[in-house]
Amino acid sequence: MGLNDIITRIRKAEADAGRLAGSVTLIAVSKVQPDERVEAVLAEGHRCFGENRVQEAAGKWPAFRARFDGIELHLIGPLQTNKARQAFELFQAIHSVDRPKLARTIARLAQEEGHCPDLFLQVNTGEEEQKAGVLPANADAFVAECRGLDLPVKGLMCIPPVDEEPSLHFALLAKIAERNGLAGLSMGMSNDFERAIAFGATHVRVGSAIFGERAYD
Ligand SMILES: *Cc1c(COP(=O)(O)O)cnc(C)c1O
Repeated sequence: MGLNDIITRIRKAEADAGRLAGSVTLIAVSKVQPDERVEAVLAEGHRCFGENRVQEAAGKWPAFRARFDGIELHLIGPLQTNKARQAFELFQAIHSVDRPKLARTIARLAQEEGHCPDLFLQVNTGEEEQKAGVLPANADAFVAECRGLDLPVKGLMCIPPVDEEPSLHFALLAKIAERNGLAGLSMGMSNDFERAIAFGATHVRVGSAIFGERAYD
């Protein structure tokens, strides 16, 4: 457990998959974690973090940014259109673009602001009722729609069902990305990031294995 252990495991998984060292970006998922734990990881030199909620990120990251240079924030949780402008201010990447209406809102903001975070389109690979993301069957059309809006689509993202073998979902996401000419694959969490890397993940989102269990109250 801990940052250095996870980085070591990522390097090994990259090598095992015949991939270049450093080709996988580690997003340290700091949602709900106490500030001391986040600060310890910043002090170790890590700069790439993931948050689930715009509000929570707005509450804690400006203060860290005042003290640590080069912080890169990724939004990995659902985004309401009325929070999109705030998300533009805080995040360098959004991994949860999951519907046309949100894509259109982001396109309008990109015009207004003259910049846009890197975008990952979320695919509901398990076709779960309660989960966000476009269905696999609609993914190609959604990629095309976002490209038509001139959005900087870097790749795809998925969160496999908890009770299924994640590899099938990683393979499916990789296949959809490949046929759409997308290089980015945001997949893999604490319990399965090595398998995700074997299937081509470029961004792994690891929380509890770095920071410890999340204490929700
Ligand atoms: C919380 C979360 C993670 C990190 O989960 P861990 O199991 O703690 O690594 C990754 N991705 C998303 C979308 C999350 O919400």
